Amino acid sequence: MSKNLSALPKKSRNGTDILNEMKNLGNGDAKWREGKTWSLIYYVDQEHTNFLKEAHNLFLSENFLNPMAFLSLKKFETDIIRMTADLLNGGKNAVGSITSGGTESILLAIKTYRDYAKKKRPWIVRPNIIVPETIHVAFEKAAKYFNVKIIHAPLKKDYTVDVNKVKKLINKNTILLVGSAPNYPQGVIDPIEELSKLALQKNLPLHVDACLGGFFLPFLKMLGYNIPKFDFSLPGVTSISADVHKYGYAAKGASTILYKSMTYMKHQFFVYENWPGGVYAGPGILGTRAGGPIASAWASMNKMGEEGYKNLAKVVMETTNKLINGINTIPELEIMGKPVMGVIGYRSNSKKVNIYAVGEIMEQKGWNVDRLQKPEGLHAMVSPIHEKYVGQYLEDLKTSVAKVLANPGLATSGGAAMYGMIAKIPLRSMVKSTIAKMMEDMYEVSGKMPDLNDTDIREEKNITMTLGKYYLKIIEYFARVREKSSDHNLD
Ligand SMILES: *Cc1c(COP(=O)(O)O)cnc(C)c1O
Repeated sequence: MSKNLSALPKKSRNGTDILNEMKNLGNGDAKWREGKTWSLIYYVDQEHTNFLKEAHNLFLSENFLNPMAFLSLKKFETDIIRMTADLLNGGKNAVGSITSGGTESILLAIKTYRDYAKKKRPWIVRPNIIVPETIHVAFEKAAKYFNVKIIHAPLKKDYTVDVNKVKKLINKNTILLVGSAPNYPQGVIDPIEELSKLALQKNLPLHVDACLGGFFLPFLKMLGYNIPKFDFSLPGVTSISADVHKYGYAAKGASTILYKSMTYMKHQFFVYENWPGGVYAGPGILGTRAGGPIASAWASMNKMGEEGYKNLAKVVMETTNKLINGINTIPELEIMGKPVMGVIGYRSNSKKVNIYAVGEIMEQKGWNVDRLQKPEGLHAMVSPIHEKYVGQYLEDLKTSVAKVLANPGLATSGGAAMYGMIAKIPLRSMVKSTIAKMMEDMYEVSGKMPDLNDTDIREEKNITMTLGKYYLKIIEYFARVREKSSDHNLD
């Protein structure tokens, strides 16, 4: 890795040199072209990627800040929203906008429902939303940013939300129910039909997070898979987030937020009429908005069509089934719940196998695997490219489990110990402050990445110290609560 820059180069540099340097830097990245990443990248093949690049670069310089100036981009957006609404049974009243990603779609949905509630039920001081424990973290971010309380509803054994529990959690300040189709950790679909009934009964809106499923489940249905209803065909569903940059196979920077009707969406818009820079209005969070991702999303959807998406869905499902069957042949591992599409979580069912130790060995073998917590597990998001690599992955997984069985010490050393500790510490605020400190380090002047092989947290004496500190904190906490039992705040 070349040295970080501390100022602009004094002299202009040669473009070819720069591009070569950049290519070299990219060589150190995760090997997604070789199927090594099981998240982050949704890779079809080089031909599709080249096509996306061309479509993207045709609109590299255009700015969607002003759709009047770029009617092409406005047409792309309108088409993308209509095509997506059609896929999700939105009918003729469904409306929506293109956003920069699932997170922006979700932030906008929460802001929209907060403002919708402000209008309809202005007496609510501290609005709350009820979400499954497995909801995507973007909802936590949205709740923080927009000052909405987030209430987590517990799951059933199959990792889907318990709708009876949701019902009990609803109170006079509740402004929204949420479910996932499917969720990120285990790839299971919450009982959206039951949530829809509950939402209608309680006269509450219901958002379905189909960031993953929006561009996948409709095609599984067309292929004859038995997929429960999750979209606008259910009368209680009022909005859906669906990412084109995931299973829509667009370039990154493209998602959609759809509403049943303008009744809701009008609360998403931002208008300011008194800016000296001019009257300003926009549908989303960003100002200047890159044209490339929107163009690439339109291009990808047109190139694929139903036919292309169905074919890729078939490939992903066959690969996922191989993956699931392979994992099921390893006695120490089990799939979490019943995943519906190319997204799965798996865990250890043996005291002798620490799943994070398995993850460490898989990383050493070059695979990028995401770790789950609560409960602990590993994660895999299947892309068409994995068709060629799933066999190798399963072989390495078998070897890794065998290695952990043979070396029990692996569970308490290295990254496995760190992830294990982070997952297990009951005082979550401590984990939070440790990670926050890590963020500060990353954004220090030096911009250094945390070296997980070298952090204090991984050394045994420090784990003990950390644990010691947290027991002290518990003792302090209870002392404080006893002292001032009138004004403690558990929030
Ligand atoms: C990826 C994802 C999101 C957030 O999308 P980003 O594009 O990463 O911002 C939301 N929900 C689910 C279920 C996801 O998998």
